[in-house]
Amino acid sequence: VSQSASKLPSKILELMDGFRASKALFVASKLKIFDHLKDKGPMKAVDIANDVGTSVCGTERLLDACASLGLLEKTSQVYSNTDSANTYLTSDGKYSLHGYIIHSNDHLWPLFTNLESAVKEGSRQNHRAFGKKADDLFKDYYHSQEVKQRFMAAMHSIAHLTARDVATAFDLSKFKSACDLGGCTGALAHELVQVYPNLKVTVFDLPEVIANISHFQPSGQHTAPVTFVSGDFFKDNLPEADLYILSRVLHDWPDEKIHVLLSKISALCRPGSALLVAEIVLDEQKIHPSVAVLQSLSMTEGKQRSGSEYKQLLEKYGFTDVQIKITGNLLDAVLCFKKSCAILVA
Ligand code: SAM
Repeated sequence: VSQSASKLPSKILELMDGFRASKALFVASKLKIFDHLKDKGPMKAVDIANDVGTSVCGTERLLDACASLGLLEKTSQVYSNTDSANTYLTSDGKYSLHGYIIHSNDHLWPLFTNLESAVKEGSRQNHRAFGKKADDLFKDYYHSQEVKQRFMAAMHSIAHLTARDVATAFDLSKFKSACDLGGCTGALAHELVQVYPNLKVTVFDLPEVIANISHFQPSGQHTAPVTFVSGDFFKDNLPEADLYILSRVLHDWPDEKIHVLLSKISALCRPGSALLVAEIVLDEQKIHPSVAVLQSLSMTEGKQRSGSEYKQLLEKYGFTDVQIKITGNLLDAVLCFKKSCAILVA
């Protein structure tokens, strides 16, 4: 009996093919085809292949795949970028996702190729994917200059996309100073000083990150400067601030490490101080949004949490008045205040 088109399991068929589509996007990005088309305008496959140094037949198939996926336009035999490719897929745009796409290809793809072993063993498959086991996630990323730059570019591209929504999820204008712990390239910090011109923002991150931030700093901006401080947030003293920020930090670490970090922040918080956590907040069933659930499959030692789990965690460390804002963007925001402050205010 033949299946009529309306009964085809389209969702399943789409998922079966998803890996081909992802890889087509990754390879076109890696070959900088979208940059090329932005710089040179509409081109034929043969000219792109000559410029990029790839085979004509392979390039043509890749370009057709990209056109079929809605990433490129094709008119007669000529290819051009869609608006979305110009904005998100070229490597130098403000909202470029290029860094994260390259990270997905070079780091996440090999990890996910070993997903079966990851599920069987319940652990990250670094040793299988890259031939080495690292005790700390970030020691992995920072072992070579190339991997570090790639990881920082990936963080920067996603942080740029979400920074405005995180910065404006709550009214932070009453705070005078903020410290973004694990703030990486300062993408969120720069957004914060734009939205809150009177806020002094410090980014605190590992020395190997801070030494490499210059490439990511905005040029010619007429806003207050951001201060960068290097250190290890588990071991070193943290800068003083009215508002601490942990953006995409908590989900990476096991409970023991989170205990160290949140105890330290809580001890530093004075009356009136607050903590802003930026993470994807799961629904109570912990199956949506799928972007967070799928991230969990990387099997870091940390985990994604629901709103009630964040509330419970933060209250355990003396924070109160926990407010959650689902932004609809890739990161949500959770704001909470040190308990003593809430009692004083009350
Ligand atoms: N907050 C940024 C964002 O939302 O895009 C970056 C998130 S990234 C997943 C985690 C950050 O924590 C990295 O920049 C990393 O270098 C930093 N980090 C990891 N371990 C750290 C430590 N022990 N002390 C300070 N920063 C650390």
